[in-house]
Formats: sequence, structure tokens, C-alpha cells
Amino acid sequence: MTDVRVRFAPSPTGELHIGSVRTTLYNFLFARQNKGTLILRIEDTDQERLVPGAIDSVYDGLHWLGIRWEEGPREGGPFAPYVQSERLPLYREHAEALVAMDAAYPCFCTKERLAQMREEQQARKEITRYDRVCRRIAPAEARQRVDDGEPHTIRLKVPETGTIAYHDLVHDDVKWELKDVEDSILLKSDGFPTYHLAVVVDDHVMRISHVFRGDDWLPSLPKHLLIYQAFKWQVPEHAHFPNVLGPDHKKLSKRHGATAVREFRDQGYIPEAIVNFLALIGWAPGTEEEVFTMEQLIQKWRLDQVQKAGGVWDKERLDWFNRVHIRMLDDDDMAERLAAFLPAGASRDVISSSVPLIKERSRPWPTRVRCSSSFSSTSSSTRRSCCWRSASPRRYASC
Ligand code: GLU
Repeated sequence: MTDVRVRFAPSPTGELHIGSVRTTLYNFLFARQNKGTLILRIEDTDQERLVPGAIDSVYDGLHWLGIRWEEGPREGGPFAPYVQSERLPLYREHAEALVAMDAAYPCFCTKERLAQMREEQQARKEITRYDRVCRRIAPAEARQRVDDGEPHTIRLKVPETGTIAYHDLVHDDVKWELKDVEDSILLKSDGFPTYHLAVVVDDHVMRISHVFRGDDWLPSLPKHLLIYQAFKWQVPEHAHFPNVLGPDHKKLSKRHGATAVREFRDQGYIPEAIVNFLALIGWAPGTEEEVFTMEQLIQKWRLDQVQKAGGVWDKERLDWFNRVHIRMLDDDDMAERLAAFLPAGASRDVISSSVPLIKERSRPWPTRVRCSSSFSSTSSSTRRSCCWRSASPRRYASC
């Protein structure tokens, strides 16, 4: 395999989301397994959605979870800067190159015209998408209007017929009809690229070997493939991971409860439990094993065992992992962590003496009420394993 270079590319639009940590964790495990490089790239091209403090939240949250990377905004690296808003000339240069090779075109449509177009399409119950009016302007005229300083965007020129196919490492062979792919904007009139252009240029320039991200990005892939094709660049391997879903099978969001890593830390979850729990949302190890440390995950996680279907968030299961991992902590370590939740100056002796009690109360197997009623044995080791398993909701059926 060529040198493994993977990246995670959060948009700083809020606190670090637990769902995006799962994707980051898989990137991290893959990088470690392959002695590769993990890169943090901040995708802040949508300036209207920036939230102050979001980058700190990425650093704090991932460091707390034990995820480390080699190149990034604060680490530096051979392809710095790693913040997209600091790389604008690169994107303009590439957008203009795409126009020059007839793979993109300037669009002079105003916001008002586009809004009206959308309204009319909706009234006709059509899919709303750009109607390609500016694609019909002769190139010489378009060039003149650009040179005259007329405000414009640059759009991808998607072929009107044919298909485009790709082999995704999770979803296998995927194919799109090009007639269904929109001429999306690549460069906005303010000079900022959109995600589609910036992600392809950066993944190429930063020599990313594998693009791992959530599968909500899969529909964008045909646009990205067209850009790779236009530049005759090698397409990195791609794996689109199933999203972390809420109990209603919609993408996990605030309406399902806590989603920010900080909230879980404040509620007393330990990073080992979160890492273990997240690793298993979307990955099936193929054995009965379910308790893993980060080191074990680095050994055992396998890309070809990642599932296509979304994994459902299950708080009860997270709580179970938390109890399991709390009991695995060394007493001093646990006292240290407890101290962080108590007022400064709290007695170390009191904290240390409460550790065994807390561990006792963190028994992962609950009492027999949780056991299947058909299970009557009281003290055999089988019973214990049954109850242990029953505490992990995924195992209820086998109890
Ligand atoms: N900036 C995108 C996000 O925050 C990343 C998508 C990608 O990894 O390509 O979801």
C-alpha cells in the first residue's frame, strides 16, 4: 500500500459532535494500524456558520479521548496551512483552471434570480436545481463579463448524459446518472470555495490516500470524481461510514439529547468508555468480544468489518461500557479523575477511600431483575454471564 495519509476535516460550526468523533476514531485507528499519518484540516469555507471556540472544542475533545494526529493547524506540517480560509488563492487558481479546460463555467445569476427559479421549480413540483442558464453563454462573452468585473460564481459543468461509477470501500460499487447531478457552485462570488472544490483540491494536494467520512457525503462523490477526472488526478480510496443514528433512525442530533463531547465528559463518562462504545457503532468485530481498550482497537478494528447500515445510539449501552471501564481503572488513576469533579482542596484521603465504593457501585451486571424471567438459575457462572450480557442491550436476545 502507498503511504497511508488520512484526514478528518471538521467544519467549525459548533462543539465537537460525538457522531463525528466516531468517524475520526476510525481514521485514527486506520492510521495507527498502517503506520500512517493523520491530518486535521479545518473546513471553514462557510463563513456564515462559524462558531467561536469550535476549533478549541475539537482539540480539547479529541485529546481527552486519546486521539492524536500528526499534521494540523497547531501542529504544522508539510502542507500548511491546514485551515481552508487561509488557502483561498489555491482554490481560485484551480477553479479558473477548470474553466479553462471547459469543466466549469462562470455563472452570473443573481441570488434573486436563483430564488425565483427555485420557487418556480417547486410550484411545478420539480427537483430544485440550477437550470444551467449561464452554461449556454458563449465562452468569449463569459470571459469578457468576468474581465469587466461582473459578480459571478464558478459552477461545475456536469456532462448531460452518461454515468459515473466508483468502488467505495464500505458501499462497494456505486453508480450515478449524470443527468441527476447538479452543476454545483465551486467558487462563490466572495472568492471562497465551496466544500466540493476545497475538499478535492486539499485531499489531492495534501496527498490523502484514503478519504473516510460519513455516508451523508456519498451523494457528493460524483461531483468530486468529475473534478478529479478533469485534473487527471488519482482518486484516493474512499469509505463512507454509516452515520450514528438516534433511536428514531435519523442522524443523531441535539433533539436526541447530549451530542457534544464536552457534555459527556461533564456527565462523568470516561473516555475509554466513549471510545469503546463509538467503535462498535458501525463496526462488527465478528466475535462475542465487546470490551476493547484503544490499544486493542488498534489491533482489532478492521475496515472491511464496517457495516453499511447506520448504527443506532443507545445510551443504556454507553452507560454499561462506562461501568465496565470504570472498574478497569487503577485506583490511583480513578482518584485522580474523581478529583477533577470535586472542589479544589477536597481531601485526597476521602477521595481515595471512596474509590472502592464507586467501583462496587459500577458493577456492569445488574441484578436478576434485568435477566430474562425464563432464566431461573441463581448463581452459576452461566447466569452471571447471562446477566452481564443482558446489561449490554445488544445482547438481550441471547440472554
Ligand atoms: N467538513 C465536512 C464535515 O464537517 C467534512 C467532510 C469530509 O470529510 O469530506 O462534515
